[in-house]
Amino acid sequence: MPQTESPELNLPTSPRDILEALVRIDSTSHTGNLETITLLQRIFASKGVTTHVFREEDGLDANLVAVFPAVGEAAGDSTDRAAKDVLGSDYGTGRGGVDRLEGESTPAHASDAARRGILIAGHTDCVPVTGQEWVSPPFEPTERDGKLYGRGTADMKGYIATFTALADRFLAADLTEPVYLAATWDEETSCNGARELVKQLDTLEIAPRIAYVGEPTMMDVITAHKSMNSFEADFYGIAAHSSLLPRGLNANRYAAEFTTWFHEEIIDRGIAEGPSDSAFLVPHITGGVNRFDGGNAINTVGAHAHLLFEYRALPSDDAIAIARRIQAKIAELDEEMKKAVPADPADSEQAKNVGASLTIRTLLYPLDCGTEGEAAQLARELGVTISPTKVTYGTESGIYEAAGMSAVVIGPGDIAQAHGANEYVALDQLERCEAFFLALLERLSN
Ligand SMILES: [Zn+2]
Repeated sequence: MPQTESPELNLPTSPRDILEALVRIDSTSHTGNLETITLLQRIFASKGVTTHVFREEDGLDANLVAVFPAVGEAAGDSTDRAAKDVLGSDYGTGRGGVDRLEGESTPAHASDAARRGILIAGHTDCVPVTGQEWVSPPFEPTERDGKLYGRGTADMKGYIATFTALADRFLAADLTEPVYLAATWDEETSCNGARELVKQLDTLEIAPRIAYVGEPTMMDVITAHKSMNSFEADFYGIAAHSSLLPRGLNANRYAAEFTTWFHEEIIDRGIAEGPSDSAFLVPHITGGVNRFDGGNAINTVGAHAHLLFEYRALPSDDAIAIARRIQAKIAELDEEMKKAVPADPADSEQAKNVGASLTIRTLLYPLDCGTEGEAAQLARELGVTISPTKVTYGTESGIYEAAGMSAVVIGPGDIAQAHGANEYVALDQLERCEAFFLALLERLSN
C-alpha cells in the first residue's frame, strides 16, 4: 500500500463537490491546467492513491495518471517530474500529429496480449467563454432545475469528478486488473496532452487494453468519429503600387488558386468519389478554406495571404494521404511563385522571401473501434447502450485507439451543451456516470 499522507481538511469528497471545485478553476486551454492537476493530485494523495504527474516545459500544463493496481500488485511511489526529462528526445515529437505526415506515425506500443487494465481518460481544459452570454457566472457552478451550470460541467469535468470521488473504493477493491485515471492537458485546441500521455504511459509500462474517454455522450457509448485535420497556409508575394504590376507578385492569386484546388480536388471530388457511411450525420468528407486574409489596399499588389482550412474525413478514408497531397500542392505553388519573381522587384527584401508554406495545426486520428470491440463489449455487459450513430466531432479517443487500446467515448451530459453559453450537466447524468463506474468496479472486483 502506498503511504497515506495525513488527510487534508477542506478537500471536496462527493462527485458534486469535486465537480464544483473543478469548475471554479478556470482551465481554459490557453491558461493551462496546473491548478486542476494540483487539486486532483492533493485529493488522490489524501486517499493514498499513487499518481504520476508530467509537467510541460511551458510551465502551464501537466498530465496526471492515478494508479489503482490489481490485487497483489504494488502501485509504487508517486512521481512528479518534468515531461521533458521523462521522455528525453521523444518529448514534443508528434505535437499536432505532424510525425504521421513524416511517416513516423504509429506510436510504439505493447502487443495486444500484454495489454491489461482500463484507462479512464479525461481532458481537464475547457473552451473560452469570451463573447458568450451566461445567465450565471461560468466559473461559479449554479444549480437550476436539476442541472448544474458552469463551464466544463459537461465537457468534461463531471466525468473526472465522478471517478475521482470513487477513488477510495477502487483502491480498496481486490481488482482483477488495474484501473488508471488519466487527466490530460489541452484537448480543445490540439489534443497534444493525450499524444504526450501515450508516450508517458509507455515509460510507466502501463498498457491498458481499454480506454473510456469521457466526452459528453449522455452515457451511451460512441464508437466512431471522423478524423479532424486543420492547417494554415501562407503565401508571400511582393507589394508594389498596383499600376506597377510587373514589379510585384500577387500572393492572393496563388492563395486563391490553392483555395479553388482544395475545394474541387479534395472536398468536391472526395464527396463524389470518396468513401461514404450513412451512420454519420454527414456521410462523407467535409472541409473548406474557412478563413482567407490577403493584401492590404485596393491599389497595392497583395504581398501576403493567410488561409485557415480543415477537413474531416471518414475513418475509412486515408487522411494522411490527403495531407500529403496538400503538402505537394503547396510545394508546387511555392516553386511557381519563386519562378515568377520579377527581375526588378519593387521590394528586394520581399523578393527574397517569396513562396508558399504550410503549417499543420492538427492531424487528429479518426475513431472506429467498432460496436463489437473490447471497450464496447465490456460497456454493453455493464448495461450501457451502444449508440449506432457515428459522431461528427473529434475526440482524443482516436489517439488511444492508434496506440493499441480499444477506445470508445462515454460520458455524462450532452455534447450539444458542451461549448456554448450556459453549459450544464444534468445531475441525473452524474448519477448514471457513477452507476457506470460502480458497475465497472463490481465487474473487476474479486
Ligand atoms: Zn471535451
